[in-house]
Amino acid sequence: MAKKYVPEPFRIKMVETIKMTTKEEREEALKKAHYNMFNLAGEDCYIDLLTDSGTNAMSQDQWAGVMRGDEAYAGGKSYYKLVEAGQDIFGYKFIQPVHQGRAAEKVLFPLLLGPGKFSISNMHFDTTRAHVELAGARAIDCVCPEAKDPSMIAPFKGNMDVEKLEALINEHGKENIGMVVMTVTNNSAGGQPVQMKNIRETAAICKKYGIHLNIDAARYAENAWLLKLRDDECRDKSIKEIIKEMFSYADTFTMSAKKDSIVNMGGLIGIKDNEDLYRDVKGRCISFEGFISYGGLSGRDLEALAIGLYEGLDEDYLKYRIGQMEYLASRLDDAGIAYQSPVGGHGVFVDAKKLLPHIPYYEFPAQALAIELYREAGIRTCDIGSYMMGNDPDTGKQIESEFEFTRFAIPRRVYTQAHIDIMADALIAIKERAETIKGYRITWEPPILRHFQAFLEPLEK
Ligand SMILES: *Cc1c(COP(=O)(O)O)cnc(C)c1O
Repeated sequence: MAKKYVPEPFRIKMVETIKMTTKEEREEALKKAHYNMFNLAGEDCYIDLLTDSGTNAMSQDQWAGVMRGDEAYAGGKSYYKLVEAGQDIFGYKFIQPVHQGRAAEKVLFPLLLGPGKFSISNMHFDTTRAHVELAGARAIDCVCPEAKDPSMIAPFKGNMDVEKLEALINEHGKENIGMVVMTVTNNSAGGQPVQMKNIRETAAICKKYGIHLNIDAARYAENAWLLKLRDDECRDKSIKEIIKEMFSYADTFTMSAKKDSIVNMGGLIGIKDNEDLYRDVKGRCISFEGFISYGGLSGRDLEALAIGLYEGLDEDYLKYRIGQMEYLASRLDDAGIAYQSPVGGHGVFVDAKKLLPHIPYYEFPAQALAIELYREAGIRTCDIGSYMMGNDPDTGKQIESEFEFTRFAIPRRVYTQAHIDIMADALIAIKERAETIKGYRITWEPPILRHFQAFLEPLEK
C-alpha cells in the first residue's frame, strides 16, 4: 500500500502553465535533441525532473527580498545579510558567495590540488570530478559498499568507506592527497545521507594525516533531516544543531545553493578559520566571479539566498519534502520497481540495470529509461550511470559505473501529488514493455562532461 502523502505546508499564489504534448510531438522532439535530455526544450517537458538544481519555487518572502536586494558593487546590505546567515548556520568565519557550486569548485580546488595530487570522496559529483581533473589532479570515489547494492536497505548509504579511505591515503602517500571531499547528501549514490559518526571518523583520519577536509554541501539540510529521522545521536537535536555539528568537522565547504537553499542561482564557499586560504579565495573570486561582495550574483540573488538558507531548515517543509520521495518510492514498491532504497533526499533513483537487464552498461540503460519516460509521459529525467561517468581521462575508455540510475530529481515546492502519481504510472507502463526497449550509442561527444552535450542514436537489434 502506498504511503500517505504528506500535505504541502504552503498554498499556491502564482501558477505557471505547462504544455501538454502528444506522443508524436515527443518522438519528434527526441530525434531533434539527438536523444540527449539536456537538448530538449524545457517547454516540451510536461514534468521536468532533469534536476532539483535551481528549479525551486521561491517563497513570497524571497520574492519580496528580490525587490529589497542591494545592488551596490561593493559592500551591499544583501551581501552582509548573506554572510551573517552563513556564519550563523554553518559556524564558519568566512563566507564567500559565488554564482553556483561549480564556481566554488573552480575557485577553491586549484588552491588544494595540482598534477600528481588526488581528491578522495564518498562520491564526486560530476562537476566536482571535472574540477578535480581540470586542476590536474585525479578523483577517487570511496563510498561504503552498501551504496552499491540498490535493493539493500541500509540507513546511511552515503557514507565514506573509512577503512578504504585510510588504505588509499597510505597507498598514494598522504602528501599526495590534496583533499578529502565529503558530499552531503551523497548525490551520485542516490541522495543518500552520511551519518554523523561517519563525518566524525572521516575528519579524524584527515586530521591524523594532515589532509584538508571539504564538505560538498549542496544538500546539507536534507542530510540533517534524514539524520534526525535515522541517526540515534541526532533524533533530539534541531536541524540547525545537526548542521552546526556536521560542518564543525570540516575545514571548508563548497556549496551549490541551487539545491537546499531554495534559490534559482547561487553558491557559497565557506572557510572555517583559515585566513590565508580566505585571502587566496578572494583573489581568485575577483578574477573569475566578480568582486568579493557579489561573487557573480546580483544583490537580489544574495538577498533571496540569505532568506532561502533559513527556509531550507524548516522542519514542516523538510517533512513534506522528503515525504514526496517516500510517497513515490512506496508506489514503486507496490509495483515491484527497484530503486536506491531506502529513498534518499532529493529524488528517486530508479535502478535501470534491474528494469532493463538486457542493456549492457556501454549501451546506457539508465539513459534508455530516461528517453522512454519522456516518450511515455513527457517526463524529463536523467542518467546517473555509465553515460554520465564518461571515459577514463587516462585511457579514453568508457568507465563502467557502479550504478545505472535514472534519476527522478524532484524540484522543491513545485509539483503536486497528482504529478507524482503520473511519474509512478509512467514507470509502471514502461515496466510492462521493458524487454522491447533498446540501448543507445554515442555518435558525438566532447572530451569533458560529455553527458550534457553528446549526441546519441538508438541501436537496432
Ligand atoms: C549541483 C551539485 C554541484 C554543482 O553545483 P552547480 O550549482 O550545479 O554548479 C556540486 N556538488 C553536488 C553534490 C551537487 O549536487
